[in-house]
Amino acid sequence: MGLQGPNTAEWFQRAKSALVDGVSSGFRYWGDDDTMVIARGEGAHVYDMDGNRYIDYQLGFGPIILGHGHPDVAAAVAEAAAEGTTFAMTTAREIEAAEAFRDAVPWVDALRFTNTGTEATMHAIRLARAHTGREIIVKFEGAYHGAHDYVLFSTSDAPIASLGNRRSPVPLQESSGVPEAIRSLIRVVPFNDLEAMERLFRDEGHRIAAMIVEPMLGNFCGVMPEDGYLEGLRRICDEHGSVLIFDEVKTGFRMGLGGASEAFSVVPDLATFAKSLGNGFPVAAIAGRDEFIQDWAVGGVMQAGTYSGNAIGAAAAKATIDILATGKPLASVERSGTALMNGIEGILAEEGVPGHVVGHWSMFGISFSEEAPREYRDYVNHDEDLYAEVIMGMIRRGVMPVDDAREPWFLSAAHSAEDIALTLEAFGDALQDAKR
Ligand code: PMP
Repeated sequence: MGLQGPNTAEWFQRAKSALVDGVSSGFRYWGDDDTMVIARGEGAHVYDMDGNRYIDYQLGFGPIILGHGHPDVAAAVAEAAAEGTTFAMTTAREIEAAEAFRDAVPWVDALRFTNTGTEATMHAIRLARAHTGREIIVKFEGAYHGAHDYVLFSTSDAPIASLGNRRSPVPLQESSGVPEAIRSLIRVVPFNDLEAMERLFRDEGHRIAAMIVEPMLGNFCGVMPEDGYLEGLRRICDEHGSVLIFDEVKTGFRMGLGGASEAFSVVPDLATFAKSLGNGFPVAAIAGRDEFIQDWAVGGVMQAGTYSGNAIGAAAAKATIDILATGKPLASVERSGTALMNGIEGILAEEGVPGHVVGHWSMFGISFSEEAPREYRDYVNHDEDLYAEVIMGMIRRGVMPVDDAREPWFLSAAHSAEDIALTLEAFGDALQDAKR
C-alpha cells in the first residue's frame, strides 16, 4: 500500500497528466503510489490533500529554517509584492537585504543576489575561472551543487562501483545531455582525504581554477569534515593560487548565522548561499571577498538575471536574516536537533541496530552501518532497505524525513519538544517493525 490517501491519489493523477511524473523537480518523484501532494505547511508540520499531518524533516530539502509560513516573513513578502517586484533597477529592499547579509556573514565584502543555488554555483565557478584564467574545477564525490552541466559529476546519485579507483577517481557524468567536453574540466576527490587532494594539486594545481566544497556533505548524510580538513583545503588553494568556493546553499544561515565558515572558522574566497537565506522563498547569493568578487566590476565576466534581487526574494531574505539575528531560532534548532540526534543514537543502541547519527544539530543523517561514514564511498556499508522501511514506517506514523539516507534530516525553529518526542516514538516503533 502506498502513502497516498484517496484525495492525495486523485490529485496526484491530475499532477501526472499536467506535470511530467507529477513533479517540477526530479528528486520529488517517489513513484506513482508514494509521491505526495501537499495542501499546506504550518510551522514544523505539513498536511497532505487528505488532511493528514506530518512532522516535517524534509523542510523543502532544507530552506525552511524558521518553519513553514512564518508570519513575519510572509508579511514582509506580502508588503513587497503589493509594491511591485521587478524593475530592472536596484531597490531599497535589495540594498537592505545585502547589508543584513553582510552583517550576518562578516567575512563577506560584497555579494550579488540570484534566485537559486544552481544559478549561484554556476556564476561562482565562472567567476573563479575568470579570476584565475584556468578551467579545471575540483569537486567532491557525493557532493551536489545544482543542476547545471559544470557540476553534474559523481554526485550522491552515483553508483559507488562506477566511481573508479580511490587513487584515480572517475568523474561520473550524472545525466545524459551533459556535454562530454565538460568532463575533461572536472576532477573529483573523496571527501576527508587531504592526501588525495595534495596529490591532485601536485600534478595539476597550475590548471585548477577552483575547488568547490560543501563544508559538510549536505547531500550525503551530513558527513562532517574531520579536524583540520577544511584548513588543509584552504592551504592547498593558497599554495596553488586556486579559488576556494564554499557551497553554503545548505549550510548557510543554518549551521549558524554565519554559516559553515563561522562554524568551522575557515574563510573561503567565494561562497554560494540559498535555501535558509529566504526561508523557502526563491533567493540565493554569490558572496565573496573583494579581491575575487569585484572581478564582476572590473568587467569581462558575465553575471545577469531578470529576477536577481527581486523584491520578493529580497524581502524574504531581509526578514529571515533579521529574525535569525536575534539568536533565538538557531538556539531552538540546536536544542531540538541535539535532543533528536541523541534520542536516535539511544534507540539504536537499545535495539542493538548498528548505526550512527552523523552531522550537525541543524542537519544530520543516519547511517545503518558498523562504522560512521567519512566520505561518499562509505555508503556501500549502509543498509538501504532497512532505512527505507524505517522511514516508510515513520511516514505512516506522521513523521516525514526523506526516504533516502543520503539526504539529511533538517530541523527548524518551529520543531517543538513534543514534535521531537513524537518523532523518537515513531522512530523506535518503525525500527522495531522493520526488524521483525
Ligand atoms: N548546492 C547545494 C549544496 C545544494 O544542496 C543544492 C540543492 N539541494 C544546490 C546547490 C542547488 O540549489 P537549487 O536547488 O536552489 O538550484
